[in-house]
Amino acid sequence: MTHHYDNRTIRTRIEKRRRRRKLLLLIALSLLGIVLALIWWMFTQQPSAVSQHKPAVSHQLSQSSSEIKQKVSKEPANPDESITWVRQTEPVKLPILMYHAIHVMDPTEAANANLIVSPDVFKSHLEALKQAGYYSLSPAEAYKVLTENVLPKGKKVIWLTFDDSLRDFYTHAFPLLQEYHMKATNNVITGFVENEREDMLTLPQMIEMKEKGLSFEDHTVNHPDLALSSPDIQEKELENSKTYLDQQLQQTTSTVAYPSGRYTETTITIAEKLGYKLGLTTNPGLASLDNGLLSLNRIRIMPTTTAEELLREIAVP
Ligand SMILES: [Zn+2]
Repeated sequence: MTHHYDNRTIRTRIEKRRRRRKLLLLIALSLLGIVLALIWWMFTQQPSAVSQHKPAVSHQLSQSSSEIKQKVSKEPANPDESITWVRQTEPVKLPILMYHAIHVMDPTEAANANLIVSPDVFKSHLEALKQAGYYSLSPAEAYKVLTENVLPKGKKVIWLTFDDSLRDFYTHAFPLLQEYHMKATNNVITGFVENEREDMLTLPQMIEMKEKGLSFEDHTVNHPDLALSSPDIQEKELENSKTYLDQQLQQTTSTVAYPSGRYTETTITIAEKLGYKLGLTTNPGLASLDNGLLSLNRIRIMPTTTAEELLREIAVP
């Protein structure tokens, strides 16, 4: 009886121990499960937690900006620049300069005097910009600067633009831009180039300059007043010129400069529909995201604009 009783007690104890072991194993397994679940949760949550801290704009455009990055890397590299882009706390203000012709004015050109800057004055602008630590942007970089609110580390930025695809861009501006290792964008009147007007750039000249890092963007087919044109005409002007540049220069043309700065809300809607990312106006001032990407301010350069005046005008307050 005692013996039997003892046996039962031992069995009960063994069972109790087994149960305790099972319970401990269960607790250990569930703890392991919880830890694994926590690790998994942290990994899956991390990227979205980071993106929540980004400004809304850059989040929305993250896909297009990664496309832009690819485009930038396809363009010829600037040999002396390896850029680290730094996110800014204040909205970036970007000076976009507007030049037209670069040559010594002939007395017969008096009517267009305001559009002509002498090579000496242009050279003094480049010299001053270089000395003051300005980095010249490509259209893709300008898009990045505005949409991601970034600047190259330790540099100020400038976007040099030239309207009207004039021949002297090749003969006068290009050598100076090369000398100062600066990029620029020429906005092309494609119909005039196609008709091989002698005062216009030629396609081979554009291709040669593009290989050296310069950009060629859109300035319509015939340079009409878009604000006075029907939506139909506006669409043809913006679409046919883009197709020409896309095909002839093997690129995705991203920027349009509205001829004489004339545009309406309809123009912007059409430009957006056709895939333009940036629109240049003649509205005076520094450009910023506030302008709207398709209606960016520019700073008009006059023949009398001295280097000192230029630096004062583009200084970010
Ligand atoms: Zn023009």
